[in-house]
Amino acid sequence: MIKFNCDRCDMEIELDDALAGTKYECLNCGDVNRVPSAPGEDPIPFEHDDAVDNKRVDKAAKAGFPPDFGPETRVLKVRRCWFRSRVIRFSLMVLVGLISIVGLIWVPVTDKSVWYYALFGPLLLWSVALLSWWWIDRLSASLEITTKRTIMHRGFFSKSSSEVVHDNIRNIQIDQSFMQRVMKVGRIGISSSGQDGIELQVNHLKKPDYLREVIDLYRPL
Ligand SMILES: [Zn+2]
Repeated sequence: MIKFNCDRCDMEIELDDALAGTKYECLNCGDVNRVPSAPGEDPIPFEHDDAVDNKRVDKAAKAGFPPDFGPETRVLKVRRCWFRSRVIRFSLMVLVGLISIVGLIWVPVTDKSVWYYALFGPLLLWSVALLSWWWIDRLSASLEITTKRTIMHRGFFSKSSSEVVHDNIRNIQIDQSFMQRVMKVGRIGISSSGQDGIELQVNHLKKPDYLREVIDLYRPL
C-alpha cells in the first residue's frame, strides 16, 4: 500500500501499489494528487526524479504561472468570444439592426407606414434575436485551466462540466478557419489517453494557441 497526504486538506490517503505515479482525486476535498511510488519500488522516472520534477516546476513558474506542484489552483478561466469569432456576420447583424431602427423611426413621416413596419419590424427582430442568441452561446461554455486539470463548464441555466487531467492528455488540437485565424480565435479539442476521439472541445475561444501553451506547461512533455 502507498500512504501519502493530500496536497490541500492533508487527509491521509492509502492506495494500492498499482496506482503509483497516477493521479488521485481526494475524496475529502476533490484536489487532484500525484500518487507517489510505493516504498522500496523503483521510482517512476518522470513523476519522482527530483531533477525532472524541478524542471517541471520551473517550466510553469518561470513563465509566471502558478507552480505545477502543491495544491491545485486556478491558472485561468476563459469565456467564448462574442464578436471576434463571427466578425462579418456580427457586423452585418448590427448594421441590419441599425438600418431597421432608422427605418422605423422614419415611419411617422411617410404615408406608406404599413410597409415600413412590415419590412423593418421583422428585420429588427431578426438582428436582435441573432445577436442575443450569440450572447447566450458565449455564456454557455467556458474553459478553466488549473495547475492539474482542464475543465470545460457547459450550460447557461443548468451547469455541467467535463475535465481532463493534464498528465493524461494525449493531444491538444486547434481548429481555425481562415477568418478565425485572422481574428486569433478557434476551437480547442483535447483528447486523453484511454479515450477514443476528442474528449473535451470548446469553440470560439480567443488565442487558442496561447491556451495550449499554458496547458503544455503543466503536462509531462
Ligand atoms: Zn484533500
